[in-house]
This record gives sequence, C-alpha cells and structure tokens, in this order.
Amino acid sequence: MKIAKKTFLVLILIFILTNCANKQINPIIIDDQYLDNLLVNISDINDEILENIYNSNSISPLKKQKFYLDYFNKLRFFFNDKYSQDYYFFASITLSKYFPQITQQLTNDLIILFKQGNYHKTLYYINQLERHSNLSTELIELKCYCYYYTQNIYDFVQYHSKFKNENFSQQFRNFLKKISNELPVEFYFMTHTARNFEIHYSNSLKFENIQIIANYLEDAVNYVNRIFGWYPSDKITVLIYEYGDYYKQHDILNLSSGLFDGKIRIPLSNNIAIENLKQTIFHEYAHSMQYQVASNSMRFYWLTEGIAKYVEASLNNLNVAKPEVELIKFSEIDNVFNFEKNNTDKLRAAYYQAYLIVKYIADNFGERTIGEIIKKFKYSNNIDKILKQEIFIDTNELFRNLNFLVEKL
Ligand SMILES: [Zn+2]
Repeated sequence: MKIAKKTFLVLILIFILTNCANKQINPIIIDDQYLDNLLVNISDINDEILENIYNSNSISPLKKQKFYLDYFNKLRFFFNDKYSQDYYFFASITLSKYFPQITQQLTNDLIILFKQGNYHKTLYYINQLERHSNLSTELIELKCYCYYYTQNIYDFVQYHSKFKNENFSQQFRNFLKKISNELPVEFYFMTHTARNFEIHYSNSLKFENIQIIANYLEDAVNYVNRIFGWYPSDKITVLIYEYGDYYKQHDILNLSSGLFDGKIRIPLSNNIAIENLKQTIFHEYAHSMQYQVASNSMRFYWLTEGIAKYVEASLNNLNVAKPEVELIKFSEIDNVFNFEKNNTDKLRAAYYQAYLIVKYIADNFGERTIGEIIKKFKYSNNIDKILKQEIFIDTNELFRNLNFLVEKL
C-alpha cells in the first residue's frame, strides 16, 4: 500500500516535471513562418502576441516592421465597413503601442469618424490612444472639438487648460476665439437627453416646451430616415437659447430662426407658439444629417438648402408658394448665399429655387436618390460626376431643365 502510494506520488511528480519540460522545449517560436501564419488569420492577434513579437530577439527589426505594416494594411480594410470599424480602431490602437508609425493614418481616420458626427466614439478612441502615448497637437485639438461638440464644457475647459504652451493651429485658435462668448452662457444650461439628441437649454425656458421640441426632433429623425434612409450615428447636440442670448451670439444672422454649425442652435421664448418651431427644427435637422452623411464635405448651397427646405416643406405637404420676388438663374443660387445674403429678395428666391431643384430630383428619380447623392460626397466632391451616376445629367443640364420649367410657371 505504502509503495503504491509512493509510486503514485512519483508518477505525479514525473508528470508535472515533463509537462514543465515540455513547455520549455516547445515555447512559441517567433520566426518568419509564425508571423506569416498570424497574418492569415489576423483576428487571433492580440496585445500579448504583439508584445511577444516586440520583445523577441529571434527576428530582425526589419521583419517586425514589415509584419506590423502588413497587419495594419489588413486591418485598415475594415475601416470602410461601418460594422467592422470598431474592430479596426481597437486593433490599430493596440498596434500603435508597438508601431507608432501608424499614428498619423489613425489620426486621419479619427478625423473622418469625427466628421461623420461620431463625437463620443472619436473621444473614446482618442482616450485609448492617450493611455499609451502622448497625443500630437492635432489629436489634442480633435479631443477638444469632441468635448465641444458633445457639449462637455467642463471637460473642454479643464483639458484645454492643460495645454497652455501647445503650438495650436491657426484654425484652432480662431475656433477658441469664436467660442469664448458661448461658454459663459452655456455653462449654466440644463440637459435633457432624448433618443437621438442631447438637448441643452437655458434654465429660464419652460421644460414642457423643451419636451415638445424633443418630440419634433424625433419626428424629423423618422421622416428623414423614411425618405432618404439617413439615421444619426450618434446623439446630436441641440442648444436652445433664450432669445436675447441667441441674438447676442449670432448677431450677423439676426433673421435666422435657427442654425446648424455642428450643433443645432435654436432661439426660444416662453411666449411664442411652439408649433411654429417645427419647420425650423426639421430644416436644421436636415442640415445636421447632410453634414454627417457627406462627412462634412459638401459645399453646394443649392443642394444643402434645397434639401433642408424640402424636409421642412414636408410639414406643409410640399406645398411651397412661389415668393413674390423676381427669380434668379439657378446657376446663381450659390452666389447669392455666398455674397448677397443681405439682399432679402434674392435670398428668398434662392431658397425657393434650391427647393425646386431638390423637388425636381425627388419627383423624377425618387427621394432615395437624394439620399444616395449626398452619401457619394463621402468619397468625392465632383458634383457633376455624382449627378451623372445618380440622375444621368450634370449640373448644367439640370439647371437648364429647371430654367425651362420655371419659365413655364
Ligand atoms: Zn438652411
């Protein structure tokens, strides 16, 4: 019995020892073959594997660099697929720990993510990057923009003040100057979170009106989604000012009943008929979605304002009365928005005629076509090429057709 017990213990000991020995005999051999195999199925690659490769002496630095680059190129394939984009960012940020050369490409991609309105996500990824490396000035600026557009004023002020000596770009300095009179007012705003919006509002305004605005906003989401197939990818920041504050900040646009500049901004007073705001809300929401869908790269007023007017006009069954002003040439619409905004007659004609263009496209090619046209701006700014693909004519021909139609009005 005793012997049997001893033998048993000895056997266990031998088993443990051989196992340990096995492990010593068979460590993962990091060689060219191993790296090539990893590249076949990159989803197996994780932080630990990358660290082992980084610390390994058995392959040349050049081979490591090549592996990192090949791996990154394979990852980047996932960037353009919105369902795999998260995987791309997570894996690349981990890789950048060992291969910081990709940080510039990652920065460019984060800027695109940001321009598509994904402010919370962009902020999250920048924070991940910041855990293992110092951010470039460009990324510090981007992080500030994320705080700003998600209305995290406290974080914005705190974070920005940490970089007093940073050599910020002129564009960023201009931005800081522009917002210096916004923050003191907005610092005391209250917040109401809706399904697709974060609404920040002056505490002098009635909460019931804010709730009504939230409902109008969600109505706009549903409508725009139904006709164009656009749905917000992140919560949109909406600011609701008391009249006085709004016009103090935006004195040039004294006539405007709302605006979108990355945030939807609307003036409100407790004594107005709230239903009148619905058109403004539909209009500004349409702007915010175009901005997201086209990655902020669409620059044609006749199209942006035309779409916003079209969405707004849906509340009136698309009955838009011809204004009592002299019409302009369709090719002049953008000039009016750019240089003659103070000419109210021309501006009214420009809004109306921009609407006519979008209505013409929707009537002849379907509303979805509008949605598709704007999506294409993500990859190209060539309006004629985009129009030819979607409606088979270029801008000149489109305007010619419309001039002809208007003459008959
Ligand atoms: Zn507009």
